[in-house]
Amino acid sequence: MGAYSTPDGQSDHSTTRSFRPRDINAYLNQYIIGQTYAKKIISVAVYNHYKRLMHIESGGETDVEIRKSNVLLLGPTGTGKTLFAQSLAAYLNVPFAIADATTLTESGYVGEDAETVLFRLFQVAGESIEEAEKGIIYIDEIDKLSRKSENTSITRDVSGEGVQQALLKMLEGTAVNIPARGGRKHPGQAFFTIDTKNILFITGGSFDGLESIIQTRLRSTKIGFATDSDAQTLDNNTIFDHVQSEDLIKFGLIPELIGRLPVIAPLHQLDEEALVRILTEPRNALVRQYQAMLTMDDVRLTIEPDALQLIAKIASKKSSGARGLRPILEALLLDSMFTAPDNPGEQIIIQKADVDDYLLDNTSKAFRASLTIA
Ligand code: ADP
Repeated sequence: MGAYSTPDGQSDHSTTRSFRPRDINAYLNQYIIGQTYAKKIISVAVYNHYKRLMHIESGGETDVEIRKSNVLLLGPTGTGKTLFAQSLAAYLNVPFAIADATTLTESGYVGEDAETVLFRLFQVAGESIEEAEKGIIYIDEIDKLSRKSENTSITRDVSGEGVQQALLKMLEGTAVNIPARGGRKHPGQAFFTIDTKNILFITGGSFDGLESIIQTRLRSTKIGFATDSDAQTLDNNTIFDHVQSEDLIKFGLIPELIGRLPVIAPLHQLDEEALVRILTEPRNALVRQYQAMLTMDDVRLTIEPDALQLIAKIASKKSSGARGLRPILEALLLDSMFTAPDNPGEQIIIQKADVDDYLLDNTSKAFRASLTIA
């Protein structure tokens, strides 16, 4: 791959990368707000992934086989799971592809096969097999492959144990035959092979319902010791910090799959303060993006702090994490962006009153009432 780029594809002027966990963590801090614990876990996982590659490249001690550190990200929607995977790929300057577990099937079924994801990675890698074999694949919604998933149909197990089985080999490392033109396999079509043994797989899911499984286990081991500090460990927002393999098995992941995802990183719901920071702090923060776009029309944008605070509060109440921020900004800035090219030199100031108006126009009375209670 060529020069370095940022997670959102801008060019980055760095020329070298360090693989020390501290440096990876510092890079992640530029783009990801909060999630301190997950950052630490992932920084170490990437460092180990890198060491493993070095070990293999140098011929390695044949008696020590370093296993892959594929990652499982547990956390609610909009908390940064995809952003983590994207940021790592940008940091490492390796090709990156995203797949949604619910569209993956065992070979032979309608849907998208695992090979298709590898083909996408190959395309992103500029059609270089060698580069693709060093890439990162993010598999979202891995929790929807739960054995108990209601999606599982009798006639074709497109989203259950069968797909988990199909993923196993790919996560572990196997040579996968890819039809030369991607898509479905056809007899007589030419194939090429991608070996997944050095591809880092990051999987993620919101794992709704896992909280109560963990809670139940923790409670049953703490009978008779219910103290305030226990109550704290049982706080729903940090409950994933206590996850064990057995909880994931209860949830419906097969033990073999869990075995191939040795690094588990919990992400937490973002509070209002974090959401305000997300609006303004990261290198590619949303507010900065809108400012940059408007500057192209010679229009300056300022959003006052109490307006930012209210935007964060609204997003926080909608429980879709940082995903909730953008639609609010789009709505608030629609008119300004519409007229911006006609008004060079203009200064737009978004105040709390503007956000109040947005609330009146776009939300229910009940929703507005819920904001004041908080
Ligand atoms: P997830 O995969 O957990 O559902 P994403 O990573 O897709 O969430 O995040 C959705 C949007 O919110 C993206 O634009 C992302 O940049 C932003 N975002 C989410 N979490 C964070 C965070 N912790 N720090 C900065 N931005 C975030």
